[in-house]
Amino acid sequence: MAHINQNFQKLPGGYLFPEIGRRVRAFSAQNPPMPLIRLGIGDVTQPLAPAVVEAMVKASKEMGVKETFRGYCEETCCAYDFLRFAIRDDYKAWGVDIADDEIFVSDGAKSDCGSIGDIFSVDNVVAVCDPVYPVYVDTNAMAGRAGDFNGERWTDLVYLPCTAENDFFPGLPEGDRVPDLIYICSPNNPTGAAADYGQLKTWVDYANAHGSVILFDSAYEAFITQEGIPHSIFEVEGAKTCAIEFRSFSKSAGFTGNRCAYTVIPKALEREGASLNALWNRRQGSKFNGVPYVIQRAAEAALSPEGKAQTKAAIDYYLNNAKVVREGLTAAGLTVYGGVNAPYLWVKTPNDMPSWDFFDLLLKQACVVTTPGAGFGPSGEGYIRITAFGDADATKEAVQRIVSVVKQSVVS
Ligand code: PLP
Repeated sequence: MAHINQNFQKLPGGYLFPEIGRRVRAFSAQNPPMPLIRLGIGDVTQPLAPAVVEAMVKASKEMGVKETFRGYCEETCCAYDFLRFAIRDDYKAWGVDIADDEIFVSDGAKSDCGSIGDIFSVDNVVAVCDPVYPVYVDTNAMAGRAGDFNGERWTDLVYLPCTAENDFFPGLPEGDRVPDLIYICSPNNPTGAAADYGQLKTWVDYANAHGSVILFDSAYEAFITQEGIPHSIFEVEGAKTCAIEFRSFSKSAGFTGNRCAYTVIPKALEREGASLNALWNRRQGSKFNGVPYVIQRAAEAALSPEGKAQTKAAIDYYLNNAKVVREGLTAAGLTVYGGVNAPYLWVKTPNDMPSWDFFDLLLKQACVVTTPGAGFGPSGEGYIRITAFGDADATKEAVQRIVSVVKQSVVS
């Protein structure tokens, strides 16, 4: 008889978004009085940039001609040189020197954040921020690194609370458990907070001192608007000996349906005498066959000057939505964080209402779908997450509806 991975049996009842989907479907079946506006899941809504589409059309045509047809990619790390060089040059623009064979192109930051655990022992102590992007937790739980779920937390994870008191960036862990693997996401999903140089340097120094590895997710780097916020962990002195960086075209260039991302593992990063770059190269060589040629050409186009100008227009559109939400809800008396260097707004529920209750209230009375903060971890209780990825008019409408519900149901 085949034995299953028992760790899967420990996972609590489903990922956050299926539960939201269940509640939204149940409500929709009752004929809501207004059309639903979805500001819950973080998916983009603006179309691909013209330069990207043009590159995809051109590359698709090449695939239909014998002389230019491409099969398996045989170049370094299953990625074409044209894309790895474009990514390398993009890093240069931030003053970061990354070699092209330190860049691994993939089909998503989600897959890479989830799969990176393959190169680490199951004995490692894992630290996650709280609240947290659920992928880090679930994938470590599946690998057996999280212990058991006690209804609120995983017994073996080190939770690093991110609260209004610490500006939603974790302080170094207290107690004697030193984490070996530390997930940091900046700009952050879900809180929208972005770490400055000093905050990241504290963790880089800690990781170098303890032999830990920082798994740095900068999927939302393109949304940084303020000076002093690093766009890459490798802008921080010392990071090349302790950090792996995950990046994605999903949110920077609207590739959520196209699928292209990359992970950077410096060759200077070694543990127990082994190069983590070499281990990941080995892992990818055995389990991954690369991203389609057409998509790699599209990603290259997104990094061209023309592509960058066009994708920036979409990012500015989302950041303007964020401003509309922030200003509208703040004026109505709600406390709102994020939305300045990130497409996420982290909104304190009024009168300490539990986050699922506020979610339900907004769903049923405003017909607006948000995400309850409690779904991202214990410290997310008392918050909801609103995304800025919606249509601009729908976002304005959603803000008006939320304000009216808050005024009627909560303040009075
Ligand atoms: N990392 C974070 C923090 C995210 O929020 C997301 C998507 O929502 C991802 C990674 C996934 O990126 P990708 O679409 O490249 O898999």
